[in-house]
Amino acid sequence: MRAMLLGPPGAGKGTQAERLATAYAVPHISTGDIFRANVQSATALGAEAKGYMDRGELVPDDVVNRMVFDRLAQPDAADGYVLDGYPRTPVQASELDAFLAERGEALDAVLRFDVPEGELVARLLGRAQEQGRTDDTEDVIRKRLLVYEEQTKPLEDYYAARGLLHDVEAVGEIDVITQRALDLLTELGHTPVAQPR
Ligand code: ADP
Repeated sequence: MRAMLLGPPGAGKGTQAERLATAYAVPHISTGDIFRANVQSATALGAEAKGYMDRGELVPDDVVNRMVFDRLAQPDAADGYVLDGYPRTPVQASELDAFLAERGEALDAVLRFDVPEGELVARLLGRAQEQGRTDDTEDVIRKRLLVYEEQTKPLEDYYAARGLLHDVEAVGEIDVITQRALDLLTELGHTPVAQPR
């Protein structure tokens, strides 16, 4: 099952992506996590990405695409994955489609996580205190939300036009939200193989 989670920063994509990946026994591929791991271990990729991340801007498409295509070509991703935080721009989306098409593959579903904006800022500020992420300051959070509106939201139309877009109401208990996503995917013909956690 090749699924993609779409939604603003703070919508809970990371938490839900992890659970869905477990339920379907596929890798959870988060571009944010990969960048943070690279920053942590001080790789060239990390050095390139860090400035953008700390400003709340997007890392350039060609850098992100190269990194993701490498990851998707690894054997553990052969039968599916849950993409989290990617694609994030129309260029990333169309290049992902081309990459997949060349391999005779395609995304199966895009789940859009719906959360009201006020709730997002509150959640992100809470997370800033828990995890100490350098991009979770109020200014950078606002910038990330703006970048989402401008650059990522257009993907909703892109995937809706392809019949792939499905809404998941992402407010409420974590378990309930997971179950909503599982029900939706099951309805689409993707039966979970394990408990989500
Ligand atoms: P969030 O969605 O909570 O803002 P992520 O962990 O998904 O956080 O991403 C953190 C940062 O990593 C982004 O603000 C951006 O700088 C960079 N990033 C992650 N994914 C992408 C992507 N697909 N394209 C460009 N930049 C990305």
